[in-house]
Amino acid sequence: MQTFASRLTDALGPQVVHSEPEDLAVYAFDAYSQDRLPSAAIVPSDAREIGIAVRIARECDEPVVPRGAGTGLCGGAVPSRGGLVVSLARMNRIVELDVRNRRARVQPGLVNLDLSNAIAQHGIFYAPDPSSQKTSTIGGNVGTNAGGPHCLSYGTTTNHVLGIEYVDADGEIQHTSIDDPGYDLTGVLVGSEGTLGIVTEATVRLLKLPEEVRVCVAAFGDVESASEAVSAIIGAGIVPTALEIMDALITHAVEAHFHAGYPENAGAVLLVEIAGAHEDVAAGEATLAAIAREHGALSWRAARDQAERDALWAARKGAAGAIGRIAPNYYIQDACVPRTRLPEIMHAIDGIARDHRLPVGNVFHAGDGNLHPLLIFDRRDARQVQAVVDAGTEILHACIAMGGTISGEHGIGYEKRETLSLVFSGDDLAAMGNVREVFDPARLFNPDKIFPSGATCGEVKR
Ligand SMILES: Cc1cc2nc3c(=O)[nH]c(=O)nc-3n(C[C@H](O)[C@H](O)[C@H](O)COP(=O)(O)OP(=O)(O)OC[C@H]3O[C@@H](n4cnc5c(N)ncnc54)[C@H](O)[C@@H]3O)c2cc1C
Repeated sequence: MQTFASRLTDALGPQVVHSEPEDLAVYAFDAYSQDRLPSAAIVPSDAREIGIAVRIARECDEPVVPRGAGTGLCGGAVPSRGGLVVSLARMNRIVELDVRNRRARVQPGLVNLDLSNAIAQHGIFYAPDPSSQKTSTIGGNVGTNAGGPHCLSYGTTTNHVLGIEYVDADGEIQHTSIDDPGYDLTGVLVGSEGTLGIVTEATVRLLKLPEEVRVCVAAFGDVESASEAVSAIIGAGIVPTALEIMDALITHAVEAHFHAGYPENAGAVLLVEIAGAHEDVAAGEATLAAIAREHGALSWRAARDQAERDALWAARKGAAGAIGRIAPNYYIQDACVPRTRLPEIMHAIDGIARDHRLPVGNVFHAGDGNLHPLLIFDRRDARQVQAVVDAGTEILHACIAMGGTISGEHGIGYEKRETLSLVFSGDDLAAMGNVREVFDPARLFNPDKIFPSGATCGEVKR
């Protein structure tokens, strides 16, 4: 009998299909890291090839896992039980750019930043900007409903996707558009983490580049007072384009690596970006600086030019990589609290990390109340590994107790599936399971992701 891989190869050719263990190793992990090999992988050039592969997978009862750049932080792109990985790496083109209507049709493997770089000459940009934007893809961003520093004012990926082309569980090519009357199927697909279909094209909204962008840095004595300032800024009804906090540990690491000019003697720094017309930006900075000072800012300064603005952002977005200077491994938690609880959760995280004898650094989208504590450890030490698991869980519980939730932007994937039932009832999960059932009754796409296993979720069939 023909094997799964040989059927794929006969249909699509050896240049599209990979089945040797050494070729498959690259698909066995993402940035969360799992180490599970698929039975085969394809690197298709178009939706038609994906449709053929999906039909073969279905006939062979092999699960199908879509994959962008593999920068996901919850095991979403990692095959949980063999099956087929569909790498979208080759489908990385801007298919159509409509400057007048400010929209583009793009393939899923297009790297996020490549889109904004390619269209900057027209005075427009693509707003969702995950810190991984130099590597992560539009398809992966759609899969996770990615956020980023500028999503505070511009919204997350779901606010910028106007339509989707996807391959369904029958291998057929389907289209959605937010202009369609009836249910918002585009919205359902965004953030579905590859469980409902494989996105083969996205039509995205583009925005006009602002007249002026000002990036300011305020130093605070500690992360709690920086958090108070963030609550006060939003409470005053002002929404800058970004409000990011880095604590002392992260600031030291990024300065040692990037030399961007962050104040190294601060207990925490607040990175504020204001964008718009020149006079609005000037007035906005004056108001924000006054609020920051009222809440304990020790200093406030605006970057002088584009080079300095770029350096500050490169350091902020490269913070996770800079941690490599401190320890061999880090675990990045992703959770949310209401903004007013930021000082409290910062205090709680500090206590949890101390209890587990783990260094912790905080770098986060403060304006959204979206936390990213980085627990620093050495995976060769079993005690530290267990401590990270326990501390990560305690942080999630603390966030929930403060009215928050278990993920702000990284998604649920494999890592957090068992914690979904901490924030949703059995009825909620069953309703979500019904949506999945409509798209993919055979549960071909990305099984073992998002939904808790049967043990903790009686009503959701797997
Ligand atoms: C250093 C670092 C910083 C990060 N910063 C941020 C941040 O600021 N904001 C943020 O939101 N995330 C961030 N992330 C997480 C990650 O980059 C995002 O989740 C990103 O959207 C993943 O894109 P990817 O192309 O790597 O997708 P992958 O990791 O390959 O896949 C992610 C999920 O999407 C699914 N998927 C991929 N392609 C498709 C497709 N074509 N159709 C359907 N489903 C698909 C996969 O099955 C998987 O479930 C960061 C990660 C790192 C390592």
